[in-house]
Amino acid sequence: MIRRDDVMRELKLTPVWRLRGAAARAPANVSGDVMDNARRARIASFALDRLVEDIAGCTACALCNSRRTTVPGVGDVHAQWMFVGEAPGADEDARGEPFVGAAGQVLDNMLQTLGLDRSTNVFIANVLKCRPPNNRTPEPAEALACAPYLDRQIELIAPRLIVALGRSAACRLLDTDAPVASLRSRVHRYRNTPLIVTYHPAYLLRTPADKSLAWQDLLFARRTLREATAAAGGN
Ligand code: URA
Repeated sequence: MIRRDDVMRELKLTPVWRLRGAAARAPANVSGDVMDNARRARIASFALDRLVEDIAGCTACALCNSRRTTVPGVGDVHAQWMFVGEAPGADEDARGEPFVGAAGQVLDNMLQTLGLDRSTNVFIANVLKCRPPNNRTPEPAEALACAPYLDRQIELIAPRLIVALGRSAACRLLDTDAPVASLRSRVHRYRNTPLIVTYHPAYLLRTPADKSLAWQDLLFARRTLREATAAAGGN
């Protein structure tokens, strides 16, 4: 039987495309469904309420088998600030809301530092909408499967600034493998939105000495947001 690959090679049409970054690191056995452009296009057409429904029924990766609830995100859908974490933990999996456990306390303190709270001018989401077993780090294939949801949330909420909390969020949104320490103190861009990287609240619980660095990051984020607002004519 003549295989498609053989034909493409013969016609000198390979390689047809090459994945970069997180997609390239996904295991070779990622199902066609995960990579499915039709699925991405469908999700990219949803409004926020439809997005929440779709997340609730998602079976794009194996985490759907172990989750209790999906955790789409919480906050003000007109927020200027968007905080992106890694994935739900046990408390979030039980309640369906991001950052409600011990790390959530730290995040709430971070928000308070900025004069914010989670219901006003802030939206909080995660790279993954389902809990990984034992709170392990998300697999690249899981982040890839969930990417259309976070991408659409960002598109719809259109925050003026994104704060990536920790390495999973930074890697997913910036398509990099770099550690958090090397990504701090710079304004990155996710599509056209300024993005600041800081430490994950759970890391700060384990490493309180770095709280002062996170504090500097938040002040830098606030300055960046003010500058972005001024550049947009103060609106
Ligand atoms: N850690 C995260 O990254 N997200 C949560 O929602 C909770 C803990």
